[in-house]
Amino acid sequence: MQIYNTATRSLETFIPAIAGKVGLYTCGPTVYSYAHIGNLRTYVFEDVLRRMLAREGYAVRHVMNVTDVGHLQSDADSGDDKMMVAALREQRSPWEIAQFYEAAFFRHAEMLGIMRPHVVARATEHIPEMIAFVEKLMALGFAYESGGNVYFDVSKFPRYADFARLDMKGARATDRAAFDDLKRSQVDFALWFSQSKFPNQIMQWDSPWGRGFPGWHIECSAMAMKYLGEKLDIHCGGVDHIPVHHTNEIAQSESLLPDGETWVNYWMHAAFLTLDQEKMAKSRGDSLTLDRLVEKGVHPLAYRYFLLTFHYRTTLRFSFEALEEAGKAYGNMLEKMQRLQGPDQGGFPQSRIGAEWAEAFWQAMGNDLNTPRALSIAWSVLGDERLADPEKRNLLHGFDQVLGLNLLDAVGKALSAEERDLVDQRQAARLRKDWVESDRLRDVLLHQHGIKVNDTSSGASWVRILPAS
Ligand code: AMP
Ligand code: ZN
Repeated sequence: MQIYNTATRSLETFIPAIAGKVGLYTCGPTVYSYAHIGNLRTYVFEDVLRRMLAREGYAVRHVMNVTDVGHLQSDADSGDDKMMVAALREQRSPWEIAQFYEAAFFRHAEMLGIMRPHVVARATEHIPEMIAFVEKLMALGFAYESGGNVYFDVSKFPRYADFARLDMKGARATDRAAFDDLKRSQVDFALWFSQSKFPNQIMQWDSPWGRGFPGWHIECSAMAMKYLGEKLDIHCGGVDHIPVHHTNEIAQSESLLPDGETWVNYWMHAAFLTLDQEKMAKSRGDSLTLDRLVEKGVHPLAYRYFLLTFHYRTTLRFSFEALEEAGKAYGNMLEKMQRLQGPDQGGFPQSRIGAEWAEAFWQAMGNDLNTPRALSIAWSVLGDERLADPEKRNLLHGFDQVLGLNLLDAVGKALSAEERDLVDQRQAARLRKDWVESDRLRDVLLHQHGIKVNDTSSGASWVRILPAS
């Protein structure tokens, strides 16, 4: 499998540190509001990656954090804790906020067919591990206490700028709004806040430096180490994490490793989904959620299909028009799947042509997860007249294990009593030539149940074009 490694800015052959096993760490949500559909793009990419690794035969251990404390309004050290801001906004405790939005996140993830990580680690449940990590950094001289806060001393980690190719004399050092006179250098970053400059902070813990709360970056380093050991095979996130969050994670983690050793072998980052040419900011509060898409009649898996029509490293400009097109294509794919005749056929593709298509599909996926190419191959399979229907179904079934589009879910699923009733009512409306009513019922079936009715000379037939939700 070839993957693009942000650390080297090149495509590399993936080789895990221990044969057959993959330690995968993905930065999780900050649970102070709903994930927006941009965030979800990153999680869908990570899900496809995990599924592909599993399909390649690796035993994957997937760890994701849930940030429920410490993420300030800027990714660096300025602003208030996002959880506190949300608590004040919604008049609830930060704990309630965290619980509510974490549940919402996993509900959305499930709707999108995203597999749950093997370990979900909440920051607030790992404060002792973070404190122990900071103590080690202090003992080794990589961190210092100042006015009750603890900072990482960037000057002690000379390759700090390498990962993100930062210009250390550039913007970050001179950002006046973020100026903190407790820091020796403005490029240093917080590991622990005690003499909190945020007097409203409700979430606090005792520490050797006073009562306070951890910085955001230390949580990922501490939890990754706890659940995946000293080193990771793959670490993922969105591209925005490259210059601050992941740069800081590397500095912390590699400071504990023997000199010059690399903490993460492969870094993978998803490009942004943008709306109106801007990056989509959750904190702006006007961002699009998956629930909003569903309200507008979009099936969650149609959104997943839409995402897969773009390579994860391409910036994707969101539009409802493009999403609608993708939704139609997805519906067509499901329709084609259901029109495949003949019995189920177990095992691997039997014809030479089928084997060639499978080969092409897995090659595309193995080429840095080229999902647009993979989808077009899936379409070619469906349209290839040389293949028998059961073999097509079989091939698509295999592809779907990484695409996660529930392509077989709709197949052969009978109508529920309610759906049967709607189909019959529509038929009755047609017989009495009540076109308004029959059109209305057709729309209800299509939009609420994902069932498309076709009228033929021999009566009406139906097909599911969306998995039952
Ligand atoms: P957050 O909850 O803000 O920490 O972000 C969760 C994940 O979404 C991180 O991996 C971010 O890098 C990623 N992310 C944030 N905004 C976008 C966006 N517009 N498009 C794609 N990924 C994003
Ligand atoms: Zn992280």
